[in-house]
Amino acid sequence: MIDPDAELERLRAQHLYRRRRVLDGPQGVRPVIDGRPMLSFCSNDYLGLASHPDLVSALAEGAARYGAGSGSAHLVTGHGEAHRRLEEQLADFTGRPRALLFSTGYMANLGVISALAGRGHHILADRLNHASLTDGVRLSGARLHRYPHADTARLRELCQGTDAALVVSDGVFSMDGDLAPVPELARAARAAGGLLMIDDAHGLGVLGATGRGTLEHFGLGAAEVPILVGTLGKAFGTFGAFVAGSEALIELLIQRARSYIYTTALPPAVAHATLAALAVAGREPWRREQLRHLVRRFRRGAAELGLRLADSHTPIQPLIAGDASRALDWSRQLEERGILVTAIRPPTVPRGSARLRITFSASHREDDVDLLLEALARLPQRDTQTAPATAAEVEAP
Ligand code: PMP
Repeated sequence: MIDPDAELERLRAQHLYRRRRVLDGPQGVRPVIDGRPMLSFCSNDYLGLASHPDLVSALAEGAARYGAGSGSAHLVTGHGEAHRRLEEQLADFTGRPRALLFSTGYMANLGVISALAGRGHHILADRLNHASLTDGVRLSGARLHRYPHADTARLRELCQGTDAALVVSDGVFSMDGDLAPVPELARAARAAGGLLMIDDAHGLGVLGATGRGTLEHFGLGAAEVPILVGTLGKAFGTFGAFVAGSEALIELLIQRARSYIYTTALPPAVAHATLAALAVAGREPWRREQLRHLVRRFRRGAAELGLRLADSHTPIQPLIAGDASRALDWSRQLEERGILVTAIRPPTVPRGSARLRITFSASHREDDVDLLLEALARLPQRDTQTAPATAAEVEAP
C-alpha cells in the first residue's frame, strides 16, 4: 500500500505537490482568489459564459421549475424534460441523429470506450490524449496502442498490424492547444475498419465559422467521425458532457455505458441553463471573434518579445518551462503581479514539459493581454524548448 506521508513528501520534493485555490464570487477573468483580486488566464470558460446573466437566470428558472437535483439516474426517474430538450438541441448542433448527456466529460469518455471495446480489441490513441480517454481504454480491457503525438505515419503503420476497433483522439489537445490531424485520423480509422472517436472538449463552441468545433474547422461530419464527445463545462459555461452519434450508438450507450447507467443524472436546472448557453453562443458570434483577435494579439506580442510559444492558434497557448520547479517559479512570479496562470506539471503533461497553460476568454480585453505580455517579459530564462512563433503563425487565425 502507498504510505500517504511518504508519498506526499516525495511529491513536494519533486515540485509536483498540488494545492487548491479558493475562488470567491463568480467565475470570470477577474476572480477574487484566496481573498485577492486577480487577472486570470487559466479557466476553460472560453466564451465567458460561466457567469453570463442569461445562464444565471436560466439556472434559477430551471431550479424553480425542476428542483435542485435530479434525484436518481437517467434510467430510473432522473431523466427529465430539460435533459430531453438539451439532447435534441445538441444532436441538432452537432448534425447527428442523437446525443446523450453524461454527468461529466470524464464519465462520457469512460462510458463510450468501455461500452464499445473490450478484451481482445485494439484501440489506437494519441500519446497526448486527455487522461479520461486513456482511463476509458484501461477500464475497457482493450489493448492500448499509443502513437506519438499527431504522428499519422506511425498511426497508419499501427493500423496495418492491428485490427483496430477504435481510433481515439482529443480534437484540440487540452494542454497544447494544437489540433489533431482529424482528416488523416479518419482515413486511418476507415482503412483499419475501426471507428474514429474525437473528444472535442476544447474545440466545440470555439472553433469553426459557427462554433461547431474542430470538425467544422476541417469540414468533416459524422461519416468521417462517427463518435463525437463534447463537454459543457468549458466554452458552454455550465457542467456536464455529451456524446453525439448514430441512433444505434446512443441506444447502445444507454444499455451498456456503466458511467451513464450507474450514476445520478445531471441536475435538470443545469441542462436548462445549458440550453441558454447554446442560445447565447449562437447569437453572439463576437465572442469567438474576440477570442481569435486576442490570440492573434498575444502571439504577435509574444513573437516581438522573443517568447517561444507552441504551434497553437486556439485559446490554449502554452509556454513551456521544462522542469516543474521552473513552471512553479514562473507561476509564482506572475501571481506576485496579480496574474493567475497555473503551472501544469507531470503527470498531466510529459516529464520535462511543465508549462504555463495560458488560456484566453472572450471576456478578456486587449489591455489584459498587454498586461500579461508585460509580466511574461520579466520572467527569467523564458525562451526555452519549443520552436519560436514565426510571422506566418502569428498571422494565422
Ligand atoms: N476531455 C478533455 C479533452 C478535457 O480536457 C476534459 C477536462 N479537462 C475532459 C474530457 C473532462 O471533462 P469534464 O471536466 O466534464 O469531466
